Amino acid sequence: MPELVGPRVVVACMDYRLNPIVQRLAEAGGSESIVFRTAGGRLNRELANYIKAKKPSSISWVPHEDCGALKFALQQINGQSIWPTSPITKQTAGILRTALRSSGGGAGKDIPLEDFTKILVREGNARLAVEFTGIKFKTEFTCLEEMKGHSDKESMLVVSENVGLRPAQLSDYAEAFMKAKRGSGFKIEEVKLYIIQVPNAALASHDRCLAAEVLGIREIIPVLRGTPAQPRTHHIRS
Ligand SMILES: [Zn+2]
Repeated sequence: MPELVGPRVVVACMDYRLNPIVQRLAEAGGSESIVFRTAGGRLNRELANYIKAKKPSSISWVPHEDCGALKFALQQINGQSIWPTSPITKQTAGILRTALRSSGGGAGKDIPLEDFTKILVREGNARLAVEFTGIKFKTEFTCLEEMKGHSDKESMLVVSENVGLRPAQLSDYAEAFMKAKRGSGFKIEEVKLYIIQVPNAALASHDRCLAAEVLGIREIIPVLRGTPAQPRTHHIRS
């Protein structure tokens, strides 16, 4: 039987606080690691199929505490959101319903965020283990400091169609992009850098809407598929 030598895959939320963790996991996978980041670190059918086609040797899934995407979904489930129901909410609500039905629980209203997160992680874990049967699979549930107010730092979003790049490389791109736009002296450490990373930006259009509408991120930086590992300022247009 041939040995499985495919790339290491990291699947994580777009939250900026996960950047160092994603960086570490991607580095551990060497040059072959590929990264997928969406709101809540969830996968849709197209993304799951794309990952399978890559025949990965292992997958690390990085869900986390205090997730903005899950908070938003929970607000929508409880009818507390002014935004039209997002497909992200529909997906998480479906998972929640199934989990509560099998445990004999109620309708899921007024469930605390921590419990909602735990249920989704447990269910997501079971579903992914079935989806990726035969692939080494690990869930790295991450505890984070509670998100502080948005006023202290500006938020930016990178939407990368190059799934081979790591957070530090995307951060370099964002910095080069912003330098070109604003003049020199721009420091990426001073912003919250959210990252959506999928092979085709259309696969994460709802995640992008969530970032723009709910988190209020105005600065969105596209990184295209064939982008090299190091940014070259003259290739970046504002
Ligand atoms: Zn999150």
